[in-house]
Amino acid sequence: MDLGIRGKRALVCASSKGLGRGCAEALAEAGADLVMNARGAEALEATAEEIRRAHGVDVTAVAADITSADGQEKVLAACGQIDILVNNAGGPPPGMWQDWEREDFIAALDANMLAPIALIKALVPDMMERGWGRVVNITSQSVRAPIAVLGLSNAARTGLTGYVAGTSRQVAAAGVTINNLLPGVHATDRADSLDGDVARTEGISLEEARALRAATIPVRRYGTPQEFGAACAFLCSQHAGFIVGQNFLLDGGATNLTV
Ligand code: NAP
Repeated sequence: MDLGIRGKRALVCASSKGLGRGCAEALAEAGADLVMNARGAEALEATAEEIRRAHGVDVTAVAADITSADGQEKVLAACGQIDILVNNAGGPPPGMWQDWEREDFIAALDANMLAPIALIKALVPDMMERGWGRVVNITSQSVRAPIAVLGLSNAARTGLTGYVAGTSRQVAAAGVTINNLLPGVHATDRADSLDGDVARTEGISLEEARALRAATIPVRRYGTPQEFGAACAFLCSQHAGFIVGQNFLLDGGATNLTV
């Protein structure tokens, strides 16, 4: 299927690895030029170069912390005209509900709620002016069903979800759609790190921790960044103009819900 976005320009935040990278690759495969971002310049430039070679699209790489105002400014300064925005950042650390202090909540809100909102506010007005735009926010399955040890994530991401629910309906008439993708367990560094915590706590190997988690997913495996990226590219496509303010679980059936 031709996604109809050849020549569009996409900002994909936090995209040197993992799910962000999956989204960047799928958009590039569809012919979109990219602005990519991550904090680590070396891995970011390596990924950007692989995508340039594989897909022949223009890729601008901006090393910056997207959760900070300075980082956002640096990325936006390199953007030019953006048609597609994919919001992403690292997830907050796990922990216990009684241990989190105000600063922990502020950091989680900055990363997983206020940074995407700042970028939406910066880029959506121009999209509206041009009559076309796509925004996809990478959130988490924890928006639909809480993951207790990820309370900071549960809190910050539902805040973003509430903002998107209203805002998406306000901008839709101008041809701009905003939707959220809710990853379940995917095979990325983030998943390795969470499995590593379980392995240490339970005194088991990383492989055993992975197998235990995979067994809880109806498809009995982790998702891949490629599958995730394909869903993102579809939401950014010409075909998705009637999809507004939705939350799509990509979790292999793990969240036990009827609707
Ligand atoms: P990942 O494999 O650890 O990759 C994270 C990417 O984001 C890297 O490119 C990293 O590069 C970049 N990044 C992290 N913090 C950043 C920042 N402050 N500014 C700019 N770039 C940043 O993570 P992932 O698994 O793809 O997860 C992506 C998001 O989905 C996270 O918020 C995660 O919590 C959420 N999620 C993931 C899963 C899963 O199973 N994988 C499930 C549910 C939710 P640098 O470190 O160089 O900056």
